[in-house]
Amino acid sequence: MQKKLVTIIFQTTSSCNLKCGYCYCRSNEDNTSRLSVDTVGKCVQRIADFFDDDYEICFLFHGGEPLLLGKRFYKDAFQFLKQRMEHKYYIGIQTNLVLLDDEFIELFRENCCSISASLDGYQPFNDLYRKYHSGQGTYVDVTLNMRLLQERGIQYGIVSVINCQNVRSPREFYCFTKEHPNVLFGLSPMFLKENENVIAPYPDQLGSFLIALFDFWIADPTPPRISLFEEIIRNLVEGNRSTVCTFHHDCSEVFFAIDGDGNVYPCCHFVGRGELCYGNLLRSSFYDVYNSDRRRSISERTIRSNNPCQTCEFFEMCFSGCMATSENGINSKDYFCNAYKMIFSHAKNYMEKSLRRMP
Ligand code: SF4
Ligand code: SF4
Ligand code: SF4
Repeated sequence: MQKKLVTIIFQTTSSCNLKCGYCYCRSNEDNTSRLSVDTVGKCVQRIADFFDDDYEICFLFHGGEPLLLGKRFYKDAFQFLKQRMEHKYYIGIQTNLVLLDDEFIELFRENCCSISASLDGYQPFNDLYRKYHSGQGTYVDVTLNMRLLQERGIQYGIVSVINCQNVRSPREFYCFTKEHPNVLFGLSPMFLKENENVIAPYPDQLGSFLIALFDFWIADPTPPRISLFEEIIRNLVEGNRSTVCTFHHDCSEVFFAIDGDGNVYPCCHFVGRGELCYGNLLRSSFYDVYNSDRRRSISERTIRSNNPCQTCEFFEMCFSGCMATSENGINSKDYFCNAYKMIFSHAKNYMEKSLRRMP
């Protein structure tokens, strides 16, 4: 039987050495708590006690910027995982990559960490929003460090935030992905509420971008790895078994974010939002957290009879999308609904046409 993958996101700190124009962590800047090895230890023990052998656990160190916690923290935390975890587990780091150095690389290699770094496209697109506090863009430093990872034979993934600028240039974005062979790309549509939304793409713009990108990708004999498209094709062929959290049938079942004080939230987008906190792992078991009324209520959001998504042709591929980019509170559908309808429909038509052409 295939094991279920659970992702535990450790929110290491909300501080960051960068000041990106779209950072959602800024709303949480007052929270100065930093994850300690002691908290990691207590939480990991609770997690190991709860999940049985049917599960594999991915521990993802997230931020702010997780490398700000320094090497000592990671040496001790990884050692602790080795000692306590009897399940199969993975370690991931989601980083802006600018603090990477030889010692970090060795540490990540020794502990088989998968690295996911942020880069939004070629320099003019990336440096528009991804900046140091001085205002200088990060492209040069990040790509140098990516080269360092390549030279050392270390695999990494790239998360690209799609904003109101790069969304207009799918061809350039596709050429950019081609320059990173064997790298898995995650596309994350930019979304900030209220007046900051001005730098987010409109849903129709995002849909057109995805369609153009898909057409380059599907026609390419050596396509780059773009997780959204791999997932859509897999879903169309095999039915939904999404690993991309946006289209998971219930992300609250398999994604959990833990802050420096041991509080547990649906994911890193909600850290600090007390009304969505499931409980505290320093004081309660993972069983109590998992069975909390809040988690159960979130878990039921897509199956509630008043969810209008249930009549959508693509419900089984989308499950109302992401709560963090929902139109109007976590119970409503994804703001990017129309973009997803556009790309699902386009990919489905493509598949149907290809099948008809088969002898
Ligand atoms: S690197 Fe991440 S945490 Fe840091 S400012 Fe940019 S978006 Fe925010
Ligand atoms: S809320 Fe959105 S970003 Fe968070 S785990 Fe669920 S789908 Fe992913
Ligand atoms: S595509 Fe839109 S309507 Fe359909 S399930 Fe997704 S969010 Fe709901």
